[in-house]
Amino acid sequence: MAAVQARLRIAMTYDSDLEGLLAADPVDAGCAAGFEVLHRYVEDELAGRKPAHTYPGLAAHLHGCPACRADYLGLIEAAEQFGGAGPPAS
Ligand SMILES: [Zn+2]
Repeated sequence: MAAVQARLRIAMTYDSDLEGLLAADPVDAGCAAGFEVLHRYVEDELAGRKPAHTYPGLAAHLHGCPACRADYLGLIEAAEQFGGAGPPAS
């Protein structure tokens, strides 16, 4: 019970758009699932769409997982520098 109340209190600090999504679908997609769609999430973000609407599970995960948030920010940065959000060629 206390955990639920704490979660609700945290949700209220999110921006109103995302707050509704997370309340409706609080399922965290997890690191592996997030990694598979992260580049698409970044492409949507850069295209001015709202990836949090398309991938609410990943949006929730990015809020809670510093490692994936770092990947996400790295992809944004790389895309802005190199003009693409796909996985790096190796
Ligand atoms: Zn993660």
